[in-house]
Amino acid sequence: MSDLNELLTARPHLQMHAMDGLVMEDVPLQGVVREVGTPCWVISAGAIRARYRALATAFAGMDMHIHYAVKANDHLAILRLLHGLGAGADVVSGGELHRAITAGISPRDIVFSGVGKTEAELRDAIGRAIAQINIESAEELEMVSAIAASMGRVAKIALRINPDVDPGTHAKITTGRAGNKFGIAYADALALYRRAAGLPGIQPVGLAVHIGSQILSMAPYLAAYARVAALIGGLREAGFAPERVDCGGGLGIPYRAEPAATPEALAGAIRQTLGGLGLSLIVEPGRWLVGPAGLLLTSVILVKQASPRRFVVLDAAMNDLIRPAMYDAWHEFVPLNAADALGEPIPTDIVGPVCETGDTFATNRTLPAPSAGAGLAILDCGAYGSVMSSNYNARPLAAQVLVAGHQWSVIRPRQTLSSLWEAEMVPEFLQT
Ligand code: PLP
Repeated sequence: MSDLNELLTARPHLQMHAMDGLVMEDVPLQGVVREVGTPCWVISAGAIRARYRALATAFAGMDMHIHYAVKANDHLAILRLLHGLGAGADVVSGGELHRAITAGISPRDIVFSGVGKTEAELRDAIGRAIAQINIESAEELEMVSAIAASMGRVAKIALRINPDVDPGTHAKITTGRAGNKFGIAYADALALYRRAAGLPGIQPVGLAVHIGSQILSMAPYLAAYARVAALIGGLREAGFAPERVDCGGGLGIPYRAEPAATPEALAGAIRQTLGGLGLSLIVEPGRWLVGPAGLLLTSVILVKQASPRRFVVLDAAMNDLIRPAMYDAWHEFVPLNAADALGEPIPTDIVGPVCETGDTFATNRTLPAPSAGAGLAILDCGAYGSVMSSNYNARPLAAQVLVAGHQWSVIRPRQTLSSLWEAEMVPEFLQT
């Protein structure tokens, strides 16, 4: 475990009290665990508000629109909270489109990204006159044109460019390299924009780019945006009038003590490359807004000594939080009880109970030895946590709790066991 004080200083919505243990805003989390049990997601409304305001402040003075990337955490309460702060939405499926609308976000404030939007999803989005569809291929452009024209509608589209820039993040969340499935090859963009301008049912409004997630350095952003700016120049020279650039998301958070990327740095990179072009701009942050605001609370089932290793087996597993198994992601652990933070740190493997070796949260992590029954918080689980949960090993989805000041509320009860199979049917021919 990194130094507890450093971890908490970097996450001002969390404090350790001698009596109350780990507290989120004004809510002692051991009290939440007593009522709701573990595993349990908790997320701080105050932290999300503070982060949204910091982002908006960094972009002050720019014609910038923040479209929250719904995929990071699509709970209706989170969407409602961000909508109340002024956010629009970036969605990647018909399901996310409906979630955003259900949370009160106007279709006029929704952009739709994604490499494989279905005909039904496009028809729905076009019928609702959403702000923009980010086109990912020549084939999709033709599809959107045909659907919009058949509906007597005009769809506003941006071409999502693949700038062939390495964002320096994990390969599985890199999206802007040539060879990734995303976006339109840079060299093809001008010709495709020309094609778009001539198609029925299509109004090209500009360009979009999204090079990946968990990006901690500004260099790849600068490289990608410089390419987009050059293309805007090329489009204007060719007589087109692009008015918007969607700068994508991807701003990273410090899961460990790595240097943090800041919204100010991102705003600076955008100003430097795209700022002087008279464009209306969009960003699509997900992780940066909600990641540090959330925790996964868990209890130690048992500590297994298997010399020379020592396994702390949690009641949370990869079906709850898949990031370590999927991306080799690092998450910090903090005890819920203050006294548990004082123990002698010893090397520990922290694992879940699922029957996969990959169900490992941390290997050889030096932690004050937690004992059976101890409560732990896994930090920075607000993004790509609960949304990626599954029922693998017939494990019900964990409860979700929202904290705001001294108030807290269950925003999704723990799934019941019987709901796991209530939609399943055993055909009659098996019953003889
Ligand atoms: N926009 C698009 C098109 C994405 O695919 C993603 C996720 O990768 C995001 C925005 C949000 O990324 P992040 O959560 O890293 O900000």
